[in-house]
Amino acid sequence: MAQRVGHEQLTRQALRLAIRGVVQGVGFRPFLFRLAAQHQLAGWVRNTSWGVELEIEGLSDDLEAFVCDLPLQAPPIARIESIARESAQPTGAEQFVILLSQAQDGAYQLISPDIATCPDCLRELGDPADRRYRYPFTNCTNCGPRFTIIEGVPYDRPLTTMRAFTMCPDCQREYDDPADRRFHAQPNACPVCGPQVVLCDQAGRPLARRDEAMRLAAEWLRQGRILAVKGLGGFQLACDATNPEAVARLRQRKQRPHKPFAVMVADLAQAEALALLTDAERELLTSTAAPIVLVRGRPVPLAQAPLATGIGPDTDYLGLMLPYTPLHHVLLGDVGRPLVMTSGNLSEEPIARDNEEALRRLGAIADGFLWHDRPIHARYDDSVWFVPHGGAQPVRRARGYAPFPIRLPFHTRPTLVCGAELKATFCLTRDNYAFVSQHIGDMQNLETLEHYRESVGQYRELFHVVPERVVYDMHPDYETRRFGQSLPGERLAVQHHHAHLAACLADNGLTEPVIGVVFDGTGLGLDGRIWGGEWLVGDGRGFQRAAHLQELPLPGGDAAVRKPYRIALAYLQALGVSAEGVPALAGVPSSQREMIERMVTKGIRAPLTTSAGRLFDAVAALLGLCPETSYEAQAAIRLEVAADAHFSGGLPYPYEIATAGTPQTWGSAQPWVERTQVVQLGPLFSELVADVQRGVTVAQMAWRFHLTLAHIIRDLALSQGKESGLGRVALSGGCFQNRLLLSLAVPLLQGDGLQVLLHRQVPTNDGGVALGQAFIAHYQTAGPAGGCGSRRRE
Ligand SMILES: [Zn+2]
Ligand SMILES: [Zn+2]
Ligand SMILES: [Zn+2]
Repeated sequence: MAQRVGHEQLTRQALRLAIRGVVQGVGFRPFLFRLAAQHQLAGWVRNTSWGVELEIEGLSDDLEAFVCDLPLQAPPIARIESIARESAQPTGAEQFVILLSQAQDGAYQLISPDIATCPDCLRELGDPADRRYRYPFTNCTNCGPRFTIIEGVPYDRPLTTMRAFTMCPDCQREYDDPADRRFHAQPNACPVCGPQVVLCDQAGRPLARRDEAMRLAAEWLRQGRILAVKGLGGFQLACDATNPEAVARLRQRKQRPHKPFAVMVADLAQAEALALLTDAERELLTSTAAPIVLVRGRPVPLAQAPLATGIGPDTDYLGLMLPYTPLHHVLLGDVGRPLVMTSGNLSEEPIARDNEEALRRLGAIADGFLWHDRPIHARYDDSVWFVPHGGAQPVRRARGYAPFPIRLPFHTRPTLVCGAELKATFCLTRDNYAFVSQHIGDMQNLETLEHYRESVGQYRELFHVVPERVVYDMHPDYETRRFGQSLPGERLAVQHHHAHLAACLADNGLTEPVIGVVFDGTGLGLDGRIWGGEWLVGDGRGFQRAAHLQELPLPGGDAAVRKPYRIALAYLQALGVSAEGVPALAGVPSSQREMIERMVTKGIRAPLTTSAGRLFDAVAALLGLCPETSYEAQAAIRLEVAADAHFSGGLPYPYEIATAGTPQTWGSAQPWVERTQVVQLGPLFSELVADVQRGVTVAQMAWRFHLTLAHIIRDLALSQGKESGLGRVALSGGCFQNRLLLSLAVPLLQGDGLQVLLHRQVPTNDGGVALGQAFIAHYQTAGPAGGCGSRRRE
């Protein structure tokens, strides 16, 4: 024994470790405490403004075993980005202790997104003997609110919206005990000391509190009433998803006639009863982020009560999610039916956050309010994912993901990146991180603008970024650009589709040049025209516009988006194809026809566009699927669904490729290709009209149209690949939310030996544009090595 002590003294060593990543508020220090005990090590650990710092001392073998086990056994929601180690002086310490947090000016750390209720908390929630039985705010270091309650760092209770709640002795004991699951769980709470729910009537008058409020809320929902429910990052509107009248009433009050509603089901079994799930979809649904997942509904549900048809009238896909807070778990359990859970807003406004605000904005929609007294610091929508051909992609990135950063393949300067205009997100960069914000929304109303400005402030504060430059889209009318221009610093304007290409590169951690096929609604081109069906060859340094869809007139400009039949008429007119014998267009009054004809022939208020989104609109209208739209991409969704039902072989429609002059170029792009190619759409529309006249089924025409686009995408990418020697194709833009298009285009491209890059971490729609802008900015202003020649200042 004495010998052993002597040996220990001889080889006692010490190590200092600095761990960065999401390592606070996730049970990291108690984990280190246990791990140190397991390996008989002494020392200390503390939170800092940048992560976790610790010193351990003991036998050298034990130290090495500790370092080896650390990343392998870390808590489930922790994310270790780096561990730096250096040797230290042993102090002869005999215990492992947890020291007070240390704040440092200017330092920053990664912040955990909010995490869905963990299995341990769920067990307590359902256990009548537990002190947290049915308590809607149960959480622990493995789950619960984080980003939505954090006002500053280090992450400690006084810097969260929980500071108003003083812990009771029981909670405090858990909080202080390193062996407890709730050790330093900042949102720790129980029915005695924590937040409470209240059920209010339409005018905000309290009717019931605590558990009685939960039970009454469930009763109301079962009766078909609409409730505004305060969740994690704002209010949701809830109603019985199996009750057609309730769903119809919600649609009418929310002024949302067709856009699909998300549905929350009690558990995975209920999800399986309603939808045909794949393994990837199951994994997403049950992940700690618990997003909405767009899944294929069962033609014949196995559930006792089928969902109301009004949930998603345009599509056979359902947006499903599982409960992610204790409040949702209790509510779903009590109601016993799936619930519509849609954002608490009016059409495209941001989600309502505070009780007062909800009362003002949702009072005319909801029959009552189920709210609580835990303030929400950051607005935070539900995330949406889908799993098309090629793997899972986000459609909307918010709860469960932001503000965790996207890792960039380089170190970059502190930059504020303003993003696009629709589905706006912004991004702050620092070191090799892009802190892409949660989904903010369409910048078309004051509320969204305010939400955007406020969120930029929050991110700057949390991640201590003082931007040296500001980056935005070239479009002069974008509010995001106006915001960027109001700030000091170096400035850079980025072309929209170039940003899409770059976003897909950044998303895949690549920097090499690619052929970017960008299909979306609109974006301002280098020539001042509206682009949207583009083949760009390049990388972060610059691009060449190698090919595009034919330019066609958009009668009335952006307003035409709401009336696809006008686009169909204008396209046919411009292409010299007669609309005779097309039933879907026959009913258009001659006055309107003549007006569109005048606009097209004289070029008045009919800007030219290469938009792929508008091509979908025109074809959908031609086939009689969608004369008018009530939400974005509705026509394209109906066209995809119409085709899906058919599915067969067949041939693509004919199209021609014309060659034009030298490609337009931006930045320091290499001359990859010599000529611009233009896809002529006359033959496609002639054949489509002939098919309509022949009475070919809509399903067949819709399917052949998708096949045609897939062939066009492949043919041009292949020819550019041959000319440039590039072998990678990046697919980006909102049109690639189309599953059918992806399932046809990706195998065609791969079949010809091209490697296909798809989005993985940010949406393929404009929600991903901010990341692309950040990527490009790095190369445009990166200093001596970064290609300053292409820098553009304004
Ligand atoms: Zn938990
Ligand atoms: Zn308590
Ligand atoms: Zn776009």
